[in-house]
Amino acid sequence: MGEQWIYLNGEFVTKENAKISVYDHGFLYGDGVFEGIRVYSGNVFRLEEHIDRLYNSAKSILLNIPYTKDEMIDRVLETIRRNGYQDAYIRLVVSRGVGDLGLDPYKCKTPQIVIIVEPLALFPKHLYETGIEVVTVATRRNRSDVLSPKVKSLNYLNNVLVKIEAHLANVSEALILNDQGYVAEGSGDNVFIIKNGVVYTPPGYVGALEGITRQAIIEIAEDLGYTVKEEPFTRHDVYVADEVFLTGTAAEVISVIKVDGRTIGDGTPGPHTKRLLEEFRRRVVAEGVKVYPTNANVG
Ligand code: PMP
Repeated sequence: MGEQWIYLNGEFVTKENAKISVYDHGFLYGDGVFEGIRVYSGNVFRLEEHIDRLYNSAKSILLNIPYTKDEMIDRVLETIRRNGYQDAYIRLVVSRGVGDLGLDPYKCKTPQIVIIVEPLALFPKHLYETGIEVVTVATRRNRSDVLSPKVKSLNYLNNVLVKIEAHLANVSEALILNDQGYVAEGSGDNVFIIKNGVVYTPPGYVGALEGITRQAIIEIAEDLGYTVKEEPFTRHDVYVADEVFLTGTAAEVISVIKVDGRTIGDGTPGPHTKRLLEEFRRRVVAEGVKVYPTNANVG
């Protein structure tokens, strides 16, 4: 693979030259929004949904993105092409832009737009076979009426603190509860449990991001004949579930085999999770927006 090209405010620059001002309000205040997207075998999974979520997040914080959605889609596709990837993770960031040291966002005249494309495996490959251990942590999910978890903003400190607690517990990921003790999600992924063949995931109002992988898994489960319920559940429900798994663009679908020291099922990825993962893997390569013209020999 040659040089890595990064889209930065309308230009393609090398990684070394991809620099932004220290007066950018994304840097100073976490003032901005972002998306994580994936391309599988040259097909971008649910690109429109990601772009819609980006624009909704931006609308929520009154950030006007200076491109139409179609223009943004073209820029994402062009960045992937420039880098020649078939399989990669795409990070799209829109910050409020350069202002002064004060909070006032109206001092920031132009949003900064960055698109980074690179290979990513969030967890080591073998963990997708064995499953992972997680803990629940003391950090609580932002309350929806304080900073809505539905806004995918650059303010990820809440999630970063969760990840730190996971590290301190020597596990790869953690579950975060909301202020009432209901399970909300992982630090960067949604959570599902399966009990007696029924699939459960917390509804958005509990404090989960409305994950695009989450939605894909709900659709896959329903297509495979499962009943899916978006219902609040507690730590206890997770401990006694038959199967637990996490979903996310970066995490994909990963089985959880231990929670707070309680073994889930027999301690190996369960049959329902495996079935959902298999169908997910089939669909991500079959669906999606094509990056390259058919038959192009890019790799
Ligand atoms: N929750 C949080 C907090 C996240 O950051 C992510 C990753 N975007 C998810 C859930 C999963 O969402 P998606 O499937 O859209 O990547």
